[in-house]
Amino acid sequence: MTDAKNIPKAYDPVAVEKKWYGWWEEQGYFRAQIDADKSPYSIVLPPPNVTGSLHMGHALNITLQDLITRWRRMQGFDVLWLPGTDHAGIATQNVVERRLAEEGKKRTDLGREQFEKLVWEWKEQAESSILNQARRLGCSCDWSRQRFTLDEGLSRAVREVFVRLYQDGLIYRGEYLVNWCPRCTTAISDLEVEYQPAQGKLWHIRYPVEGSDDFVVVATTRPETMLGDTAIAVHPDDERYTQLVGGTVILPLMDRKIPVIADKFVDREFGTGVVKVTPGHDPNDFEAGRRHQLPIVKVIGEDGKMTEEAGTYAGMDRYQARKKVVADLEDQELIEQIEEHSHNIGQCQRCETVIEPLVSEQWFVKAKPLAEVTVEAVKAKRTVFVPANYERVYFEWMNNIHDWCISRQLWWGHRIPAWYCGDCHQVTVAREDPHICEHCQSGSLEQETDVLDTWFSSALWPFSTMGWPDQTPDLERYYPTSTLVTGFDIIFFWVARMMMMGLRFMGDVPFRAVHINGLVRDEKGQKMSKSRGNVIDPLQIMDEYGTDAMRFTLAIMAVPGTDIPFSISRMAGYRAFCNKIWNAGRFLLLNLEDQKPVSKEEINKLQEGDQLDLGERWILSRLQKVISETNDNLEKFRFHEASNELYHFFWHEFCDWFVELAKMNFTGEDPDKKSKTCQVAIYILEENLRLLHPFIPFITEELWQQLPHSGDSLMVAAYPVVHPEWMDSEAEEEMEGFQELVASIRTSRSENNIDPRSKIFVQLACEQKSRNFLESQCEQIKSLAHLSQIDLVPHLEAEGRRVQGVSKLAEFSLILDEVIDVEADRRRLIQQIGRSEDNVRHLQKQLDNSDFVNKAPEQVVAATRERHAEAVQQLEKLQEKLDGLTQP
Ligand SMILES: [Zn+2]
Ligand SMILES: [Zn+2]
Repeated sequence: MTDAKNIPKAYDPVAVEKKWYGWWEEQGYFRAQIDADKSPYSIVLPPPNVTGSLHMGHALNITLQDLITRWRRMQGFDVLWLPGTDHAGIATQNVVERRLAEEGKKRTDLGREQFEKLVWEWKEQAESSILNQARRLGCSCDWSRQRFTLDEGLSRAVREVFVRLYQDGLIYRGEYLVNWCPRCTTAISDLEVEYQPAQGKLWHIRYPVEGSDDFVVVATTRPETMLGDTAIAVHPDDERYTQLVGGTVILPLMDRKIPVIADKFVDREFGTGVVKVTPGHDPNDFEAGRRHQLPIVKVIGEDGKMTEEAGTYAGMDRYQARKKVVADLEDQELIEQIEEHSHNIGQCQRCETVIEPLVSEQWFVKAKPLAEVTVEAVKAKRTVFVPANYERVYFEWMNNIHDWCISRQLWWGHRIPAWYCGDCHQVTVAREDPHICEHCQSGSLEQETDVLDTWFSSALWPFSTMGWPDQTPDLERYYPTSTLVTGFDIIFFWVARMMMMGLRFMGDVPFRAVHINGLVRDEKGQKMSKSRGNVIDPLQIMDEYGTDAMRFTLAIMAVPGTDIPFSISRMAGYRAFCNKIWNAGRFLLLNLEDQKPVSKEEINKLQEGDQLDLGERWILSRLQKVISETNDNLEKFRFHEASNELYHFFWHEFCDWFVELAKMNFTGEDPDKKSKTCQVAIYILEENLRLLHPFIPFITEELWQQLPHSGDSLMVAAYPVVHPEWMDSEAEEEMEGFQELVASIRTSRSENNIDPRSKIFVQLACEQKSRNFLESQCEQIKSLAHLSQIDLVPHLEAEGRRVQGVSKLAEFSLILDEVIDVEADRRRLIQQIGRSEDNVRHLQKQLDNSDFVNKAPEQVVAATRERHAEAVQQLEKLQEKLDGLTQP
């Protein structure tokens, strides 16, 4: 046991954090051990991408999970918190490509194999730095079970799922309009497209009606796509155009005859109510094209340049073609009007290139049949969302789900396990790499070059990480997981897909609860971004303020369903809370006599022997309420309320009242009283440390280890439970009256500018029923309200200088006859000191000025020096006087 006298005065978080984290890990406390006597509790860590370092969003997400797992572990659950990282397909590939670009190289210069090797090297480095950052956060994951979405086991799971879905007819290959990034040269999902407002133009183009001199006017923001029009459309109920439907117009520039169709997707209010239909380059038009069996004409290619189908525009860049098309239309007087138009432009989330909707051959998962069962499961509350309103968001998405395009034209990822036959051109999909075509036995096979969307492997995360497709003890024990903690932005990307895959392959939901945490924003509520320059780096914060202060700030601000406006000044406040805990702990340790831990039984004995003071009975009772509410709040993911309550209990009840009262017994004459109060103090402090440990694990462990304790670590100590026999409503009521009286006297003192250091005389007048109580608490009231004497009187006297006040228990009168008006003196002195300081500063400035010292006449300089010395002396005198005045 450490000698209490050696506890440093100030808490040094960085050294302490490092020490305990390493020790916890060495002791194996993070490791899940299947224990039949315990109930399982499991969480899988949303795997961070191996793209860079952790940001504040990760810090929040990890803190909340760590809080839950530490709490559950202390509650006696067999806890698995399974960590790992995500290969993050396009995102990671882009990072490495950007680095290559700095050397003037492209991935194609290296070839697929070399490039993949390079990404693996990057992964090793990024992963270890990310996981070390997670360790800094105090993350109590089971590192022995760490996984990576591209590791061998998970790759096997990916193949198994792909093959089974393919065999069940739920994976198919087909033409589809995808969001294409011409820079990344890959399809990207709808959700990876970011929409940016842009100021563009709306061109109104005349399409001549065949067999007449009339024309219809069609408006578009992308005139180059008109080259691929295969129809124009009007709303079926739009009477202006009824006679046109079924007719033909001539597509300008291409001289192609295209039909006029009627379809409800046309917005009658937009432009003229006639729209062009370009199935090859617009998602709505693609759907309309399918409904009306329109041909697809692809005029823009995968490189963003115009194709052969674009006729004379072939080979031009898409924007160059736009200019040329407009110029040509103007020449032919086919432009009716050009309007300024603000709209949203879709950009590639990864590289900010404007995406181009393109038709291409891709792999798809049939989403509807997979999604339907998940909707049923959420309706049946097999998985609950917290906050509950995210359920609606979930239903909304799942009920409107489209087939999921799972192929990506990348090199970094799980290569699709499909082989094309050079002879019969059929596809073989297999678990093991095949040598012959399963249709014609030809050996001429070539594997699909595309890889899977990165979310395909993360969709399997809750069970692939536990060893699926093998039936492992971990799966048996820990699946379904208890809770998932994740952000709102990936409910669809990730949560929904885990639900689909979990139900399909495990026959059960992947998690019982999904807690959605908010975004961490800056203190003004703005999104943190490099361009705004408002990014807060969690590592820097932890170095400066300590991990505990950051964790506590995140937890206390984690109001469900809202974003967190993270502010450094608030965090400084919670660092002060950590220091408060340190100081209180240090103070009690310095007064400690016994080096024995204090058990519940010992407190019971004191309680039964009626040996406890009011403040002691009160704090024991309050503690029971706090324990009950903390557990209840954590059960409901109400981290902010749990942390708020613990903060106030520790600071404003334990420190401000209990410890203040305990000081009387510590300094008093009665050794039994001192020892008894010591026991209670240690007991309550220890319970506080246990309650706070999941929130601020480091400082609590450090203090706990210094306290007399049984057990090896606070991390594996039991979380407090309620002892109802210590609930004492009488003590709470009495204490409330006591606190109110002391607070009223204190307020009255400060309102009347009575120096807090001077002891004053107070008269109390109360009703008979309170008299005994007040008599019993006289010493305590004197001590806490800083009084020299209390007289209990039937009626307050009115003569002399006095201030009267009222509290629930008693009326009181502060007798001021003997108090000199110290406060007024003090104020006067402070003013004088201010003036004197100004004077010294002014003279000093003159003397510091070398021009003055060197060029002014000697006597003048000498006189200034003298005045300066006098002024300094005067200031010192004033200061002394002030110090004398405020000495107790
Ligand atoms: Zn891109
Ligand atoms: Zn074949």
